[in-house]
Order: sequence, then structure tokens, then C-alpha cells
Amino acid sequence: MSTFRSLLLTKSDGADGAKFNANVTDIPIADLPTDGDVVVRIEYSTLNYKDGLAIANKSPVVRKWPMVAGIDGAGVVESSADPAWKVGDKVILNGWGVGENHWGCLATHAKLKGDWLVRLPAALTTKQAMAIGTAGYTAMLCCLALERHGVNKSHGEILVTGASGGVGSVAISILSSWGYDVIASTGKLNESEYLKSLGAKEVMDRATLSAAGKPLQKERWAGVVDSVGSHTLVNAVAQTKYRGVVAACGLAQGADFAATVMPFILRGVVLAGVDSVYQPMATRVDAWARLASDLDRAKLDAITTTIKLGDAIAAADDVLAAKIRGRLVVDVNA
Ligand code: NDP
Repeated sequence: MSTFRSLLLTKSDGADGAKFNANVTDIPIADLPTDGDVVVRIEYSTLNYKDGLAIANKSPVVRKWPMVAGIDGAGVVESSADPAWKVGDKVILNGWGVGENHWGCLATHAKLKGDWLVRLPAALTTKQAMAIGTAGYTAMLCCLALERHGVNKSHGEILVTGASGGVGSVAISILSSWGYDVIASTGKLNESEYLKSLGAKEVMDRATLSAAGKPLQKERWAGVVDSVGSHTLVNAVAQTKYRGVVAACGLAQGADFAATVMPFILRGVVLAGVDSVYQPMATRVDAWARLASDLDRAKLDAITTTIKLGDAIAAADDVLAAKIRGRLVVDVNA
């Protein structure tokens, strides 16, 4: 095979400024990045919020042009110059700037650094790994952060914001399987039955959190997984109980955080920032092992929709418009 299929993002200078394009196109295999050492035959990728931003050219996610999109991939090693990996190994890639400054995995092939790869847990298929994807792996990092900072089931309810999204849906599934009482905050109240089927004890309207509120509010949450940011995060922190923990990973509402220090200095609330892109390898392997052992497969199936590579460009707009429920897997070979 001399070419591979990819979702290629290009920017060129035109008379009226930079012109952006996203196309599914064939690229010579010989053009794969030279700074990778493992060629992976990608079986499945996914559309995360960040992929939506990149493909729709809505924020400066892409740092080099042209760029093959896709921050996540799962597939089989086709060739390797890294002794840690051999032909036939099944691997997962999340983050490390792939799809941002290194060609990504919304493609049939990717050339990646061996140091970036996680071995696919035996209990997961490549498709399930991408149903989880960066969103689900980040949800697990958030849940682990709550426990690392001392939250346990006896402390009370956990709030999950952006509940019907990828991070939110997986976080609800994990926390409910760990025995927590999970309250889901959503803008899609028509998805209440879906959220309850994932394990939410109660569903609340996100409008109650999305406007500016008082710096200290009635204490309710033992912990929070927040993928929304902005006023929602500020209000969640202001409602967190004494010594509670808030894991913050996202900005679906906004990147602003107009808070006071009161919850931190009067209630000892812990704000735990969660980044997935440059997590050390040991934490990644641990998070993936916990996903493989703890995440209910029936719930994973319920949150997953599979699309073809050619559908990913249109789907990017739906991701940004919050029209997607749960996770989108991309079958790059369909
Ligand atoms: P999704 O698009 O799947 O879900 C985001 C959800 O946020 C939506 O489904 C919606 O849920 C809610 N939402 C959207 N717009 C608004 C708004 N204006 N106000 C309040 N809520 C809103 O995205 P992901 O779950 O994949 O990612 C969520 C966030 O986490 C993103 O900002 C993403 O960039 C970030 N992220 C960060 C990572 C990291 O490494 N730190 C890794 C992965 C994701 P509902 O309709 O239920 O309210």
C-alpha cells in the first residue's frame, strides 16, 4: 500500500486571508512524520471536543499545517523501530500533541513515538478503547483525583457537569459503579432517562449553575467532576462541602473562572486540575487498567455511536453544538 486515508486539515494564504479546509484524502505513506518510530494501522479513532474544535477551525488547536486530525487512536503495530513494540501489538494513543502538532489518528495509518503508546488492556477491543477515548480516560483521571484527595462514598453526593457529554457520561458510569450517589447536571433534560440508566441518582438543569452566583453557597457536594468551567465551575466550588474535592478538566461553557478564594480558605475545598495530554505513562496505564476493569460494557455501548471517517467533518459541528450524546467512535476504515 503506497497511500493512506486521512482527515487532512490545511490552511493556505489567499487574497482575503488564510483559507482553511478539512477533507478526507489519500496521502502517500512516505509522507508520514519522520519523528515517529512506530507505524500503527489505526482501526478506530474518535471525535472529542478538541477534535471538533480542530476540524471546525474554531480554536487554535492545530499548531502545524497541514495536519492530520485526531487526538486519539487505537490499532495494531505495523512496523516498529522501538524495541518496546513489535508487529501485531495492539495499542492506544491519547494526546501528546497528536492531531495538534504531530499528524493524528483520524486516518488509516499513523506514525507515532513508542513512548506515547499504551498497550491495549486484554479486556478491551480497539473499538471499546475509542468509545472511551480521551474523554473517558480523562473522566477516569478525574474520578481517581477525587479519591486521591480523600473523597469517599460516606462523604455524600458527587456532582457531574456536562453530564450528557463524553467526559460526563463516562464519569457517571464509573462513579455509580464505585457506589457513589451521582447527580448529573445537563442542558438536555430530555436525556434524563439516559443519564439515570448510566447510574445518575438525580438529574438537574444546568441552568441552575450556569450564571454568576454567591461566593459561598449551601454546602452540597462531596466531590465534583466538572468539564464545563466558567460560572458552572465557580458555583460548583461554592457549593462544595467542607474538605470536598472538585476535579476540573474542561471549558465547554468557558475558560473563565471568576471565583473568590472563600471556598478554599474557609471550607478547605480542593480544586484539582486534570490534564490528559501530558500525563505520565504510569498514570495512563493505571487509568486504562481501571477503565478495563471497572467500566460497565453495557453502559459503554449505550453511550457510543459509530460513524465513518467521511462523516467526521459534519459531526465536528454537532460536537461543538452539544448535539451529541455520549461518545462518537470513528471507524477509519469504513
Ligand atoms: P462533549 O462535547 O462530549 O461534552 C460537553 C458537554 O458539556 C455537552 O454535552 C454539554 O452537556 C455541556 N455543555 C456544552 N456547552 C455548554 C455550555 N455552554 N454551558 C454548560 N454546559 C455546556 O465534550 P467532552 O466531554 O469530550 O469534553 C468536555 C470538556 O472537557 C471540553 O471542554 C474538553 O475540551 C475538555 N476536555 C479536557 C481534557 C483535558 O485533558 N483537560 C480532556 C478531555 C476533554 P449537557 O448538554 O449534558 O449539559
